[in-house]
Amino acid sequence: MSNNLNKKVLLLNQSYQPLMTVEAKRAIILSFTDKVEVLERYSEQVHSVSLSIYVPSVLRLKEYVRFNKKRIPLSRKNILQRDNYICQYCKAKDKLMTIDHIIPKHKGGVDSWENLVAACIPCNTTKGNKLLKDINMQLIKKPKIPSVLFNIQNELSISQSSWKPYLFMKEKN
Ligand SMILES: [Zn+2]
Repeated sequence: MSNNLNKKVLLLNQSYQPLMTVEAKRAIILSFTDKVEVLERYSEQVHSVSLSIYVPSVLRLKEYVRFNKKRIPLSRKNILQRDNYICQYCKAKDKLMTIDHIIPKHKGGVDSWENLVAACIPCNTTKGNKLLKDINMQLIKKPKIPSVLFNIQNELSISQSSWKPYLFMKEKN
């Protein structure tokens, strides 16, 4: 039972926009209020002395709530996750990824989502402290600030196919 209470539950806004994940325990408490609608359930149940209930897996708020966009912290780990551990110059997927400043720090480049990318060691070494235009290197895509979905999609690796329709993700075959 305790494991089931730790399951992650996807919480959607009234507009079906994914907001966050909450723990099953909180989701169950919410599901007893009239604030949410249970859209999907896990096949597992939790039991108390007097009742057994299926653990919700997707909840939707009945009233639209305006949330401040949650900022995802700028960190090495989050940059690598955003870039899927793929070198943004040569597409290599290497465990030894580094972080490259597209515009080098000493040329005024800042620590930002738009200026930091995952790079393999050879690409990072080649690029060094130069500007891309000077050495004919190109990014495979323009780096962006990740959306709130990013966090939730990351959690999917440990979670649920029942969420995917709500996260605009396709079922893996
Ligand atoms: Zn590379």
